[in-house]
Amino acid sequence: MKFSYKILLCSIVTMAVSFGIGGYFFVNDVFRASLEREIGQAADDSSILKFAFETAALNIPSKYDMLQNGAVEEIGGNLENRGQGTQRLLRLSDENRNSLYASEGFVGDTALLAKIGEQKRAYQIIHPDEHYYIQTGVMVHALDRILYLETMRDVTEVYAERARGFAVYRSLTILLLVLSSVFLYFISYWLTKPIRLLTRAAREMTSGDYSYRAEQVSSDEMGQLTKDFNHMSHVIEENIHKLEDEIRAREDFIAAFSHELKTPLTAVIGYADILRSRKLDDEKHFLSANYIYTEGKRLEAMSLRLLDIIVAKRYRLEPQKTGAEVLCAYLKDMYAGKKEYQFQFDCEPCRICVEVDLIKTVLLNLIDNACKASEPGSVIEITGAEREEGYLFAVKDHGIGIPKEELRKITEAFYMVDKSRSRSHNGAGLGLALCSEILKLHGSELMIESTPGVGSCFSFLLPEREGAGDETSE
Ligand code: ADP
Repeated sequence: MKFSYKILLCSIVTMAVSFGIGGYFFVNDVFRASLEREIGQAADDSSILKFAFETAALNIPSKYDMLQNGAVEEIGGNLENRGQGTQRLLRLSDENRNSLYASEGFVGDTALLAKIGEQKRAYQIIHPDEHYYIQTGVMVHALDRILYLETMRDVTEVYAERARGFAVYRSLTILLLVLSSVFLYFISYWLTKPIRLLTRAAREMTSGDYSYRAEQVSSDEMGQLTKDFNHMSHVIEENIHKLEDEIRAREDFIAAFSHELKTPLTAVIGYADILRSRKLDDEKHFLSANYIYTEGKRLEAMSLRLLDIIVAKRYRLEPQKTGAEVLCAYLKDMYAGKKEYQFQFDCEPCRICVEVDLIKTVLLNLIDNACKASEPGSVIEITGAEREEGYLFAVKDHGIGIPKEELRKITEAFYMVDKSRSRSHNGAGLGLALCSEILKLHGSELMIESTPGVGSCFSFLLPEREGAGDETSE
């Protein structure tokens, strides 16, 4: 059963039960009040008749000093007549509770007589036929006799009133239930709208549309649920895109890797085949063997770099405090012998907390790349400066530069802007990928600015790191 129908049904049942119980108590309360009033009036009537009987008995001339049964009947007959042609219903009984006089139509039972006492008035409701009566009974002292006077008051109308009350209430309840059912249907439909929207969103997502979001139609708990659901969808969508990107990157990596492997291997196999199948002169023999050697070396370098990247991905950093200027001095010494380029080192002294060997690897890669991209004699600047957010290292060259559309891809493994140029420098497109991994470990990233024909600037910011490691001196 639909949730909205359940709400509807529960509301209707609750309303029906509360209307029913409320109506029952209301009508019954009105009925009880009316009946009490009638009982009071019946008691008053009974008292008046008792007094009238006793007075009449005193005024009857008595032959013997006793009230005769005939006199009782006479007084009873007189009392019965209430004028204007209407009759009272009464019964008079003697000391032994035997009836002496009873009005025509008096149908009260004799059980009440037993309950009448000296000071005790009695009454009961009787229902001898289709009518309801209040039967009252009282003791009457007339001269020397003790008699019992019973009256009957017709209260059928009070009961009929109650039945009418119930009927009216029943009809009213049914009418109200029908009207409110229509109203409640729209309310429950409106209340369950967020659920329908969420269900639709869940279905859309299941069918593959991860960008689908449920519309938020309220700001209550359901609205909050929709908000949370949409946030969850957003996270799922992001994760799925991330996973897709990762899978794509892995596929690209495998494709590039096999391609990079194939090129040197083809050459190695080709030259090895020539060497084993033909007798070559010394020079050609040397050239072939040399080709196999250099390509083999390239393969070796490539596999070592790959290994470095894989290790860097799983590496647990152990940073040490060192001076940035010390790092710079080490690089300056390293490149002191390389005279084809003009290296300019300018690092502000500053304490940085890094894994020294790894940051050296990054800077060496960047300087090597700058050399590869520059003409001999050109200037390569290596700078280090303190910034508010950390320490900024930059390697700037005035070489060939990188086209804007390539910038995003050059940190991917095996990506080379100019393949033949890179290979001629023994490159395999792995250097920047390694740098990125190392910087990631340090909570940093590579920033590249480049203009083709003007030069490039590779920089990275080392954020301040709390906690001191061992001091190192280079
Ligand atoms: P490689 O080992 O081939 O140098 P890298 O990952 O270090 O690989 O660099 C990727 C590519 O980015 C290089 O092939 C080169 O085309 C380009 N590149 C890197 N640094 C520079 C630079 N300073 N100037 C111009 N191009 C560069």
